[in-house]
Amino acid sequence: MVAQAILTLNAGSSSIKFAVFGCDGDQLEFTTGGKIEGIGTAPHLVARDASGIVLAEHRWEAGTGLQHEDFLGRLFEFAEQHLDGAELLGVGHRVVHGGAHFFAPARVTPSLLGALEALIPLAPLHQPHNLAAIKAVASVRPGLSQTACFDTAFHHQMPAVASRFAIPPALSSEGVRRYGFHGISYEYIARRIAALDPALAKGKVIVAHLGNGASLCALQAGQSIDTTMSFTTLDGLVMGTRSGGIDPGALLYLLQHKHMSADQISQLLYEQSGLLGVSGVSSDMRTLLESCDPRAADAVDLFVYRLAREAGALLSSLGGLDGLVFTAGIGENSAEVRRRTCERLAWLGITLDEDANARHADVISTPSSRISVRVIPTDEERMIARHTQETLTRPA
Ligand code: ADP
Repeated sequence: MVAQAILTLNAGSSSIKFAVFGCDGDQLEFTTGGKIEGIGTAPHLVARDASGIVLAEHRWEAGTGLQHEDFLGRLFEFAEQHLDGAELLGVGHRVVHGGAHFFAPARVTPSLLGALEALIPLAPLHQPHNLAAIKAVASVRPGLSQTACFDTAFHHQMPAVASRFAIPPALSSEGVRRYGFHGISYEYIARRIAALDPALAKGKVIVAHLGNGASLCALQAGQSIDTTMSFTTLDGLVMGTRSGGIDPGALLYLLQHKHMSADQISQLLYEQSGLLGVSGVSSDMRTLLESCDPRAADAVDLFVYRLAREAGALLSSLGGLDGLVFTAGIGENSAEVRRRTCERLAWLGITLDEDANARHADVISTPSSRISVRVIPTDEERMIARHTQETLTRPA
């Protein structure tokens, strides 16, 4: 039994993930965790212990209208009940946008919270929920230390040329620039690559974080030098409900000639596009792969096409490639998406080991493949807990 623990909260657009880690010196031991999915539709909670045994499961009826705020207090209570007598040292949060000024994990203060609220327009699907989680904890346990970990932080040192849009400098210096996201996941993966394959970690690697949100990151010696998401989480790849990159001229057309309002366009691009918009069937890759509807097949084709195309762009930023890593829900579980992506990138010298791919093995390329292809499960919760532990031991 450990004496101290850290709780992590990762509030997404329609889900909240949480995890409790026991702290043994600088070791972190996962003890309990889970997820509430389907917030806003039909919420479903599952919580498990470290051996995967279900500790709690609950389904709420569709249409109850329960929102993130309604679950946060309950989740916190549940986590506290499963501390096994350990003292809760602090809570770590995923905060999607840190803007231009926050590029290291930071202890939450009222002024930090205010500054992060100003960034809500840049991440409307996530930032309000991230901040609601911080406020919910503060209201039940006002004295408890809270740490914000930013998804943008890992990309902070991208070269200037990778972080600029070709717009006048006055706007760039106001913060209209490329930030990049999924940084907590990429940081974790960069550390895993270093542990699993130190030679590869020194080289040029593209990491594909393919979940409901999806992006690619170009790692050069473990540092992000370019990525596909930019000012907001809309840019780059086709996602579950987000469009990915779209000609800004198309938005002007929608505004000026289709007379859509800014809110309607926002809803279109964040919630009604991507896999859902193209297929008209689902935003869920597994559902689309199982569907016989030709529109579902079109959506998957577009997803893979754009993924390979954007990988080509990052290849250019890197000036070569030594490794490709798949992670997150689709990347870790869909042999089909990985196979089709590798097929499109075969010209690079990728040879997939079909059998290893079907088994979701750690290495899915053949020994003779010029580029090593890996599947590495991400663990944003552990990365958040690690940062939270570090900020707790740092002088305030
Ligand atoms: P989030 O970005 O919300 O954390 P996840 O990383 O959990 O999302 O990824 C969710 C996506 O992973 C969904 O599109 C889901 O269909 C997909 N996925 C999960 N398991 C599989 C599978 N076995 N085959 C294909 N897709 C899968």
